[in-house]
Formats: sequence, C-alpha cells, structure tokens
Amino acid sequence: MNYINTELCKKCGGKYCCQQMGGTFIPEQFEDLTVNGLIEAVKNLKLSIDWYEGCPLGSDRSRTLYLRTRNIDSPVIDPSWGGYTCVHLNPDKGCDFTYEERPFECQKLIPKFENGEYKCYIPKQYKATKAGLSSRWIPYQHILLKVEDSF
Ligand code: SF4
Ligand code: SF4
Repeated sequence: MNYINTELCKKCGGKYCCQQMGGTFIPEQFEDLTVNGLIEAVKNLKLSIDWYEGCPLGSDRSRTLYLRTRNIDSPVIDPSWGGYTCVHLNPDKGCDFTYEERPFECQKLIPKFENGEYKCYIPKQYKATKAGLSSRWIPYQHILLKVEDSF
C-alpha cells in the first residue's frame, strides 16, 4: 500500500515535508550494510549522516547516527534540523525517487488537507519520529561511525 496523493502534493509542493528536511531511511532499505556499501549509498543516493543527540533507548551513547537524504547546499555530515530542502525534490515533478526507493519516513507520510489546512501525518504505528527511526540504526552504529570517518 502506498499513500501517494499526487494532486494534493502538487498543490503544496512539499512545503511542510520535503522543503523542511530530507527523509530518513531504515537499515532494511539497504541491500549492502557494510561500510563500503553504505559509503557508496551515501554518494550515489546523495545521503547525509545525521544523528539523534544521545541514545533513544537510554544508553550512555552520545549520538545515534542514521542516514537520511541530503539537503540542498548541505554537507554529508549534517546534524542540522529543519528548514532545508531535500536534494531529491524536483520542483516540476516532485520526488525524483520512485515510491519504493523513497526513505521509509517519506513512504509513510500521509498527505491530508482538511478544513483549509494541511494536516499530513505519519501514523504512530510506524514510530517514524527522530528517536524511533534512529533507534533502528543502533545495531549499525559501529559501521556508520566508519562511514562518517570516510567523509
Ligand atoms: S505530504 Fe503533505 S506536506 Fe508533503 S507535499 Fe504532500 S501535501 Fe504537502
Ligand atoms: S526523498 Fe523525496 S519524498 Fe523524501 S524528502 Fe526528499 S524529495 Fe521528499
């Protein structure tokens, strides 16, 4: 099932999603989760390494790294938050990924317009908050640290 609503999203142009921040992937979306595989993914898919400050599960880790799409004019290693447009947003066509290629966070966003307002949302069951998504990367922190070091 996908939540694409081309008509509504065309009108909006990504004002409240793609123009605010690149979308976050989950590890299961990558075939090759080795250091070299993720370095190639960062380069080829134009990703950034971002992080959650601390550990979403309460360990003493100072940062929890994860991968998301890069923002325009932004670096590969980029913990900035909000107000930047994703490099994959094409002003004429929308997202340049297919639905299946999109970050998990983007796939699960449901477009909604009600009572004159955009009320797009991600259902809670997907746990697609920054804490929820970064926690999925916890088993891969040792790999992401090496990926980070290579840039
Ligand atoms: S999902 Fe919502 S915020 Fe994003 S482009 Fe569509 S209508 Fe706009
Ligand atoms: S990957 Fe596509 S859907 Fe996700 S933020 Fe970027 S342009 Fe928007």
